[in-house]
Amino acid sequence: MPRIALHWQILIAIALGGLAGLLLNTLALPADHPVLVTLKLLGQLFMNALRLLVIPLVMSSIIIGVSSLGEEIGRMGGYTFAYYLGSSFVAVIIGVACVNLIQPGIVDGAALGTVLALPAETSSALAKVQDKSLGDVLSLFTSMVPPNLAGAAVEGNMLGLIVFSLVYGFFLGRLPPHLRDVQFSFWTGVQHIMISITHLVLRFAPVGVLALIATTLASTGFAALPPMLVFLFTVLLGLALHMFGAISFFLWRLARVSPLQHLRAMVPALLTAFSTASSTATLPVTLRSLRERAGVSERVSGMSAPLGASMNMDGTALYECAAALFLAQAYGLDLSLVQQVTVVLIALLTGFGMAGIPAASLVAIAVILGAIGLPLEALGLLLITDRLLDMCRTAVNVYSDSVAAVFVASREGEALEPLRPRQG
Ligand code: ASP
Repeated sequence: MPRIALHWQILIAIALGGLAGLLLNTLALPADHPVLVTLKLLGQLFMNALRLLVIPLVMSSIIIGVSSLGEEIGRMGGYTFAYYLGSSFVAVIIGVACVNLIQPGIVDGAALGTVLALPAETSSALAKVQDKSLGDVLSLFTSMVPPNLAGAAVEGNMLGLIVFSLVYGFFLGRLPPHLRDVQFSFWTGVQHIMISITHLVLRFAPVGVLALIATTLASTGFAALPPMLVFLFTVLLGLALHMFGAISFFLWRLARVSPLQHLRAMVPALLTAFSTASSTATLPVTLRSLRERAGVSERVSGMSAPLGASMNMDGTALYECAAALFLAQAYGLDLSLVQQVTVVLIALLTGFGMAGIPAASLVAIAVILGAIGLPLEALGLLLITDRLLDMCRTAVNVYSDSVAAVFVASREGEALEPLRPRQG
């Protein structure tokens, strides 16, 4: 019997997980019911297995990539950051435009907040974001230089590990050959082992994805959605315009790569991002798709993809702006131009150091709410749609990271191979 390609298996798992989740939500089983406990366990195992690979994969990829670059490192870094800035900026503009045009916070002329009661279980989410100020978010930048490498690994401080690996790789490349070669072989071996383990973990992706989607839907369901449908549609429209319009156009014009071909190549990574809502957990799959399906070299993907996973969050930046402006409308607050620019700036800044984990942007939105004078409780409205939109914006984040890698590869003169047939 012919083997079904991995992305089809994941897609089927998403559909089955959705059905199972809705059924479980209708049955309203208690949280400790064996079915729910088992699904939760399977989903968690899959997430853990992916996240387990991230640190050795990020370190080895960056160290190998940077140490084999000579003077090109400055040029590649320049292209990478120019892309990050440009694409995030376009994303926030699309977010602001969509909310201003569609006005999802106003229903029949009345502010949505005045006609809607906040959902009950907001307190735990609020507790996480209480007392966050811009200073807290900007302190992410201090995490770039962690005082302790092992501590950074334990705390999952990706930015710190990335900066350390960049510097390490840079100086490794400058060692005399007898010292450099041993280390280079070591890190190459580490990377190959991590890639083999990624292949192994992905064999279980359909089970993991089914479990993740089912548990998410079992707890959220769709019952609370109707009043938020216009907001949901607005954000989805913005994300689609950015992904299929802006960055696909960019890919076609500047990297000379067919967006359709690239989209097909990245399907396994996009589906994993959608299912896990975590660009960091998706990183092993992103690297694998870039190398094995999009034809980007190890040198470029190894540096670009990990950087993107923690510094380039287009979908998140778009969502933050859309969410803040939506809440302002819903609470009848007329934002001045200066306030709108403040929202955009905070969204752009926070995107640079945000953890690629589920619901990470809620903290940034809390900061934005404080800056424009809205109560933190307004965040409660967003919780209704947050997981679904998190899954979608994470896919956009990962797609944009992959476009950045292809853009840099094309600038470096790499001939991007066409998609090889029948790869999982
Ligand atoms: N979940 C997103 C990511 O991992 C971050 C966010 O928008 O909350 O990319």
